Amino acid sequence: MCHNIVDGRYHTPCGHFVAMSTRTQDCLRANCLFSRRHAHQFGCKSQGCIKMMSLPVKNPIRVSPTKCSTCREQRR
Ligand SMILES: [Zn+2]
Ligand SMILES: [Zn+2]
Ligand SMILES: [Zn+2]
Repeated sequence: MCHNIVDGRYHTPCGHFVAMSTRTQDCLRANCLFSRRHAHQFGCKSQGCIKMMSLPVKNPIRVSPTKCSTCREQRR
């Protein structure tokens, strides 16, 4: 099943994840509606086809030792 991968920054002190960019991981299956290998590009009516994406996966490409901007603003 396809899913989105969210690249972002993880803020250690507050535990928040700030998304920077989102990309799609293609599962390359012919029975997945979101794949570019999907067998029925237009008007898919197949019962066997997957019509849902899995939950997005957070991918921390950076780890920050400071709080995120939202948390920093709340303290003011
Ligand atoms: Zn897929
Ligand atoms: Zn299909
Ligand atoms: Zn935060």
